[in-house]
Amino acid sequence: LHFFMQKYIEQLNEAQREPVLQKDGPMIIIAGAGSGKTRVLTIRIAYLMHQGIDPFNILSLTFTNKAAREMKKRISDIVGSSEAKNLWMGTFHSVFARILRAEAEHLGYPSNFTIYDSQDSLRAISGIIKEMQLDRDIYKPKQVLGRISNFKNSLITVKAYYNDPDLQEADAMSKKPRMGEIYQNYVDRCFKSGAMDFDDLLLKTNELLTRFPEVLAKYQNRFRYLLVDEYQDTNHSQYLIVRALSDKFQNICVVGDDAQSIYAFRGANINNILNFQKDYEGVKTFRLEQNYRSTKNIVEAANTIIDKNKVKLDKVVWTANDFGPKIKVHRSITDNEEGRFVAATIWEQKMNHQLNNGAFAILYRTNAQSKAMEDALRKRDIPYRIYGGLSFYQRKEVKDALCYLRLVINPKDEEALVRVINYPARGIGNTTIEKLTIAANHYKRSIFEVMQNIERIDLKLNSGTKQKLLDFVTMIQSFQVINENQDAFYVVEHVAKKTGLIQELKKDATPEGMARIENIEQLLNGVKDFIEGQKEVDGAVGSLSEFMEDVALATDLDKDTSDEDRVALMTIHLAKGLEFPHVFVVGMEEDLFPSAMSMSTRSELEEERRLFYVALTRAEHQAYLTYSQSRYRWGKLTDSEPSRFIEEIDSQFLEYLTPAESNYRYKSSIDSDIFGDVDKSKLRLAKPIGSTPPKHVTDNQPKPDANVRKLKPVSGGNPSGGTANLFDNKLAAGNMVMHERFGKGQVINLEGVGPDKKAEIKFEVGGLKKLLLRFAKLDII
Ligand code: ATP
Ligand code: MG
Repeated sequence: LHFFMQKYIEQLNEAQREPVLQKDGPMIIIAGAGSGKTRVLTIRIAYLMHQGIDPFNILSLTFTNKAAREMKKRISDIVGSSEAKNLWMGTFHSVFARILRAEAEHLGYPSNFTIYDSQDSLRAISGIIKEMQLDRDIYKPKQVLGRISNFKNSLITVKAYYNDPDLQEADAMSKKPRMGEIYQNYVDRCFKSGAMDFDDLLLKTNELLTRFPEVLAKYQNRFRYLLVDEYQDTNHSQYLIVRALSDKFQNICVVGDDAQSIYAFRGANINNILNFQKDYEGVKTFRLEQNYRSTKNIVEAANTIIDKNKVKLDKVVWTANDFGPKIKVHRSITDNEEGRFVAATIWEQKMNHQLNNGAFAILYRTNAQSKAMEDALRKRDIPYRIYGGLSFYQRKEVKDALCYLRLVINPKDEEALVRVINYPARGIGNTTIEKLTIAANHYKRSIFEVMQNIERIDLKLNSGTKQKLLDFVTMIQSFQVINENQDAFYVVEHVAKKTGLIQELKKDATPEGMARIENIEQLLNGVKDFIEGQKEVDGAVGSLSEFMEDVALATDLDKDTSDEDRVALMTIHLAKGLEFPHVFVVGMEEDLFPSAMSMSTRSELEEERRLFYVALTRAEHQAYLTYSQSRYRWGKLTDSEPSRFIEEIDSQFLEYLTPAESNYRYKSSIDSDIFGDVDKSKLRLAKPIGSTPPKHVTDNQPKPDANVRKLKPVSGGNPSGGTANLFDNKLAAGNMVMHERFGKGQVINLEGVGPDKKAEIKFEVGGLKKLLLRFAKLDII
């Protein structure tokens, strides 16, 4: 044991070793990407245990449960699994859900409370808006839920809302004067259902720790050592929890990188990291400067990017690693072509260098971008996995099954009940459900309780309907009995059969229908895996409620159940903390990245830039930046400009792949069907490329970022590289030309010089268009 510990500590560099050896007191490690922050945190925990700290007294909070599991495994390797087992590690949400279950009675909640996912919350809000007979176009459920979520994360309760005239006025100004009532109704409805939403897990924890000093004291004494990874992304609610818990012993170690703060839109507050020194007395600050993850090219390029931000802590990041290949920049004409370039490159790299699929990640700004990538990977038979997006547990048939299971655990759960009470069809209609809901609101009881007492409440239901309601109650109760005596697998299988769910799905013999049944099978496999996993961990029987907790709190990254070797596709937000040998950052286009919705203020743009910093620093060996000149967005083909972020990188770190060179190998596959997947009839409706100058050039408004964009030739500074430029020299007014997309046309006029040279061309179909020659693929005919 001693030997192992020694070995791990010796492997750290000096700057990393210091915070590991510093046992007590408040400390902060601020350091750039890939400098070993997470590694230091892991070794630090092992070393605390090695020094005799009871694992029961250590709490470590991570960004995903997966990260927590990996850390725990590492620590097990060093100190042994029987010790590591007792560590508390996980996301804020999963750790505090566990505490809330133990302490639920203080708050008047049952310990078996349901955790609503965002779908459930949205349905509840929609229901309330309908019941209150409000206009859904003004009270948009998603917006309303977002507002309530913000309240909760800032610890604004309903009461606090009514005490704050400013908040009420703001809602009145935005034509939503009844926001407070909706908030109240939503809180009531969740409480009556024995349900907490995601934000409640933090809000209620704060309530618990402030209202019940004895509970606070209990957990302060328990968690004598607190460690928080990715501290830059904690929101106000999380910040207060950490402060309260660490207040007594002040053994708090937080690690983070202000340059990677990317969750401001969800209320994360970068000031938490900037103000840490002020919050505790005698804070020790550590800085790590050596990056072990990436090549020099990547590290230095990333430094040039983050330099453009004004709000930042000064940091040095360097690496002793090789220079490595330059960052490759690729442009394509359509997003589908972009997908084909990525898939072809992965395929080629795999072949040439014997790499696994897992060596590659494709990162994008928005989930919608995954489709083109998926199509291209599928065509080449490259296995991939998409993280995020609509998760497995949110698919309709899976969620239906889960809602029955939620009722077994907590029959008060109203969203679950309304969802499945008449699915499969049992002749319980909407009018009946409405009557039940009204009665439940009136008696301040759950719908299930109303149903149990249906004989005693006069709802003007006929006896047939009453019987159906009672049958449903009996069915759920019979499941509860089984749940008391059987493991989770048995219960889930039994429920799937007895509710008629499987028979219902079997009626549909189409491939989609079959896929739904397979999903239920997969859910069962998941339960089996879970039970096996539980046995390994502590020899326990995996109960249904434990399984459901796991499902409710799985973060998007956690749903990675199989070990198969696949290319990873995910948003940049989700990639935080991860690393891959080869990283493609796709869709490097203005209005997409930086996002059109995040360019109006400097601070928004700076957050987008930090996001780009996160993306680039995931790469160990090779990074690719790709962009497309056009892409389908909101059902329309739109033209696009390369992202300003590409140009912000010092050009010495970049290698522009000219179409002629880069696509040489893939030329046949790309050119042959370059527009095979574009609906040509739509092309005429689309904005022609180059018809509008980039927004940030024409706009008279002062720009959030004062850098004036200067377009670089895409061919990497070689003015004669690429078809368009070569051709540019010869083109004259009057020439007949053929354009790949617009077809035949005649050059009317030429204007501008060098890379800005434009041609006005009258096409036979589509009329007059102005094209930037640098981009336009034209042939003289
Ligand atoms: P991020 O900011 O992206 O979360 P990080 O600062 O948490 O990064 P780690 O993930 O801990 O960095 O480390 C980056 C990589 O460098 C990992 O593969 C890690 O194993 C490796 N590493 C860290 N420190 C050392 C070291 N002293 N010797 C060798 N490899 C190291
Ligand atoms: Mg990390």
